[in-house]
Amino acid sequence: MTTFDLRRARLRSGEQLRESVEVQLEPLVLGGNEYAPVPDRVPAELTITKATSGGVFELDFRASLHGPCFRCLRDTVLEQSIHAREYHANEPAGDEELRSPYVADDTLDLSAWARDALSLELPDKILHSPDCAGLCPVCGKDLNEEPHAHEETSGDPRWAALDELRGRL
Ligand SMILES: [Zn+2]
Ligand SMILES: [Zn+2]
Repeated sequence: MTTFDLRRARLRSGEQLRESVEVQLEPLVLGGNEYAPVPDRVPAELTITKATSGGVFELDFRASLHGPCFRCLRDTVLEQSIHAREYHANEPAGDEELRSPYVADDTLDLSAWARDALSLELPDKILHSPDCAGLCPVCGKDLNEEPHAHEETSGDPRWAALDELRGRL
């Protein structure tokens, strides 16, 4: 877990601190599959801008996630470029909206923030290719490598009902 000690950033209002940091990334789970960041430590740029009422934190990094294609399960790599932004008020006066969940005791939790920012940017389904044909629901073979159909599909009961109806006309 990577954290940043905010006491290191003694800024006055209007001042900005820009620092290169290395962030430890955690694996993400999507649709029951685990996606591992490779490498799991990435260089990131942290920017802290002090305002009168609080601070604005920005984090920029690139991550590469490795895991199975949602449809055909082959190894897939997803590259993501992240720009995350957080505001944290000095005195939130009980307003949770103005408090960053990643700040506690003058410490910014960069790993948790990076994980959440990354998962917000992920597509609903991670596919090895946008037109992945998936696995055959009948025999389980990869339809990308062996496109095929099975005869059994013509025995669909819905079609049988239609055929019977046609026979009566
Ligand atoms: Zn696929
Ligand atoms: Zn098949």
